[in-house]
Amino acid sequence: MTGSPPPSDRPESARSALVALFRPVLLLVSAVGLTGFAIALTLGALTVLHRRAPPPETDIGSTPIAIVSPTPEPPPITAAEFKGFQGFQAKPSTAPPRQPDPEPPTNEPYDLTLRLEKGDTIDKMLADIDVPEADRRQIEQALQGVLKKRRIAAGEEIQLEMQTTPGQLDAPRLLSLSVRPQPEREYVVTRQDDGSYRGEEKTYRISPRIVRVEGERVGSLQQSGIAGGAPSAAMIEFIRALSYDVDFQRELKVGTKFTVLLEQQVTSDGKITHPGRLLAGELHLGKRTVTVIRFRPQGGADQFYNPKGESVVRSFLRTPMDASKVTSRFGLREHPILGYSAMHTGVDFGAPMGTPILAAGAGKVTMAGYNGGYGIFVKLEHTREIGTGYGHMSRLGPGIKPGVVVRQGQVIGFVGSTGMSTGPHLHYEFYRGGRAVNPLAQKFAMQASVGGKDLVRFKGLAGQYVAQLKNAPKVAAGKPEERRESAIRQLRAAAEQ
Ligand SMILES: [Zn+2]
Repeated sequence: MTGSPPPSDRPESARSALVALFRPVLLLVSAVGLTGFAIALTLGALTVLHRRAPPPETDIGSTPIAIVSPTPEPPPITAAEFKGFQGFQAKPSTAPPRQPDPEPPTNEPYDLTLRLEKGDTIDKMLADIDVPEADRRQIEQALQGVLKKRRIAAGEEIQLEMQTTPGQLDAPRLLSLSVRPQPEREYVVTRQDDGSYRGEEKTYRISPRIVRVEGERVGSLQQSGIAGGAPSAAMIEFIRALSYDVDFQRELKVGTKFTVLLEQQVTSDGKITHPGRLLAGELHLGKRTVTVIRFRPQGGADQFYNPKGESVVRSFLRTPMDASKVTSRFGLREHPILGYSAMHTGVDFGAPMGTPILAAGAGKVTMAGYNGGYGIFVKLEHTREIGTGYGHMSRLGPGIKPGVVVRQGQVIGFVGSTGMSTGPHLHYEFYRGGRAVNPLAQKFAMQASVGGKDLVRFKGLAGQYVAQLKNAPKVAAGKPEERRESAIRQLRAAAEQ
């Protein structure tokens, strides 16, 4: 049999590794509660059993990035799932004693990851896992030689490559020790053929790498992106950039496809030090595709634009509330209280009592207070031509009174059911030249466009991003479920040994 053998082919190394894992203090654990413990053990088991995975440099398609990068994490293993591993919950002091193994011992190398605890030293840590003193002295010397005066902080992870020597089960051999306090700097001590130890400082270059995440909406757009391997911050930026144009309530469906383009920071040996900044994104709605492009105009701040170079920020919000749903449209309808057909001069958004109501655009308050059937009502004047009105509020927003200037998105009041209303909702009106028109039918101007000298640079960048949204290398799909399943399987296999 070639290639890497299954764990059962080398029980000895796995067992010694597990025994080592149980040692007090050194557990690769800060075991804050069961979940942390389980995850730590999972990682421990992964390092032990999955040694010598191919280096992740080029083929990001198969790199399990969640293990390398801080986000996204697989969902925590629950207590119920953990139930099969009662043995792992034993207190360190009751760790199983090492038993002589009937099988002939192998000398297959194995990996261990230990965390340096407060007040701990690497020498003490190696003593605890029975590395012979003569070796420890040399290791310490070699390490100090490369560290110079630098100290290794508590909490730092120490990667060890160990080997059990036949006939000397109690004195495992350390093949290499490495610690990487910064992504670009690693200190390594390696055992030489003659049994001596040599220290080395390795430095890595950090450079940007452009990747894409393709996904389909299942649950929230943000969660779908995270499941696909995008960092949460990038998804939030994407959603914010889309929100001026996309009606998430009506246009976003289960299965809506999207792509985001990310710029990761990666070391020359393939470690991801930044999970990705959003460069561009695409949302494929039924009839249209919305594309947003990050760009920084000369002397300005980063903003998102459409491929034509128009800022995604609009003069008006599409809906003056978060998570609202349209309960009654603009136009003729049977009036729920009056009982006869009447013109509904606005749009109703159903929302829980107390939901903040936002100014749809920047403007001046011209009315704030009771207004007949509208209940507590706010009217804003945005331009000489355009105004908006908000009815049935439970109360006004802080400082909202006639004459006050408001910014777009400022809270002007809270959802209620005052006036002629059958339940908590916002009645929202939009005026053009003093006449109420359908707010949902309005086309809103883009606020700014890329101009002048910036335009050529923008066009080049936008063209590049649009192409990369199709052909940049893909981030390995998150599949946290699968990773968790495999981690559980490995824990089980280890527990059965
Ligand atoms: Zn209404």
